[in-house]
Amino acid sequence: MCKGKFHPRKLDFHPYPSVNAGLRKSFHTTSRKMIPPAIWIVVAPVVKVIAVLSGRFSRKWWQALPTYKKLQYLNAAGCVGFSGLSLYYCKHLQETPITGRKRFIAFTPAQYEKLSYETYKHVFHQYEKEFLNKDHPFHTRLTRVFHNLLWANGDFVQLNSNQKWEYRVLDRPYPKHHINALCVEHGLILVNSSALEVLQTDDELAFIIAHEMAHILLGHQQENISQGQLLDFMIIAVMASIWTMIPSDGISIVTHWFFAKCRQLFVDLPYSRKVETEADKVGLEIMAKACYDIRAAPLTMTKLSIDCNLNESGKFQMEFLKTHPLSIRRAEHMNHLLPSAELVRESCNCPELPSKDPRELITFISYLAEQRYIKLKTRQNLKQVTYKL
Ligand SMILES: [Zn+2]
Repeated sequence: MCKGKFHPRKLDFHPYPSVNAGLRKSFHTTSRKMIPPAIWIVVAPVVKVIAVLSGRFSRKWWQALPTYKKLQYLNAAGCVGFSGLSLYYCKHLQETPITGRKRFIAFTPAQYEKLSYETYKHVFHQYEKEFLNKDHPFHTRLTRVFHNLLWANGDFVQLNSNQKWEYRVLDRPYPKHHINALCVEHGLILVNSSALEVLQTDDELAFIIAHEMAHILLGHQQENISQGQLLDFMIIAVMASIWTMIPSDGISIVTHWFFAKCRQLFVDLPYSRKVETEADKVGLEIMAKACYDIRAAPLTMTKLSIDCNLNESGKFQMEFLKTHPLSIRRAEHMNHLLPSAELVRESCNCPELPSKDPRELITFISYLAEQRYIKLKTRQNLKQVTYKL
C-alpha cells in the first residue's frame, strides 16, 4: 500500500497500550516450551554466579581426574550441550517479516507482549519529563511526517494492526545532544529535538522515523532479547568450564574477561550492525511508499556521520553509535539502494523526484565539518602544549 492508496483510519494514541498487540500475527503458534523472559532476566545473573562458583569448587575434583576421564567428560558434555542447544535453536527459528531472514525467537507471543508492554511503560516514564509539549512546532512536524509514513504503509500488519502509537520529541537540543531516535515495540518512538534542528527537511526526518518504524516492523527488539538468552545459555556453560578447568583464579578471570570481549566483538556488535543495515533498507522502502525524496537518506546519514565525529558531549547514546555501521558507509549503502526505492515510488504513483538533488549538499556540509574538525584539533593541540609548559 502507498500514499494515496490507503484509507486512513482513526489512530488511537495512548501512552499505555492494550496487550492485544499485532505482533501475534508474526509468530507461529505451535506449542513450545520457553522460559518466561521476565523470569530469565532475573534468574540469568544468579545462574552465571552459580556457574562460576560451582566451577571453582569443582576445580580440585577436576584436577584429580585422570586424563582419559577428563576426555570422557568433555566429550559427553560437548555432545549433550551441542545437541541440546542446536535442537532448541532449530525449534525456535522464524522468518523475519519483509526480508525473510531466518532468526531465533525464544518467546511465545503472549510472553513477548507482556515484556514489550512493560518495556514500553518503563521507557515512557523514563523520558516523560523531557517531552516537548504537543503544541510545539517540532511535535507538529513529527506528527505530520509520522502520519504520512504510517498511512502509506498500512499494508504492513506489524505497523498497522493493534499498535498503540505514541511519538514524542525529547527536549535535547543540538549540539549538546546527538541526532538520535529510539523506538520500543508496541509503538513508542522518541526523537531528540537535535534531530529536528539539524534535519531541516521532512524528507530527512522521514528517513529517521522510517528507520525506527522498520525496527518495530521487523521485530528487532524481541530478536535481540532472544539472541541474548541463547548466548546466556552458552556463556553459563563456558563460564563453568573456564572456572573448573583453569588451575588458578587469576588466569580464570583473564580468560573470562577475554571471552566476554570476544563475544562483544564477534557476536554482539556484528549482529547489531546487521539489524541496523536491515532497518536502513526497510526504512528506505517505508519512506519511498510515502513518496518522500529518497535521496535525502544518504544526506541524513552524512549529517549523522558528521555529528558522531564532532559532537562528543552527547549522553543519549542508544543508536547511531559503535553498535551501528559507520554512518558514512550507511550513506553509501543508501545510495546503492536508491534505484530499487525509486521503483517503489513509481509503483505507488508518486510524483517525480524534484530536480534539485538533496545530495548536492553533502560536499558542502562535509567541507564545513572538515573545517570545524581542524579547528577543534588545533585547539586540542594548544591545550596539550599549555599543559606541557
Ligand atoms: Zn536503528
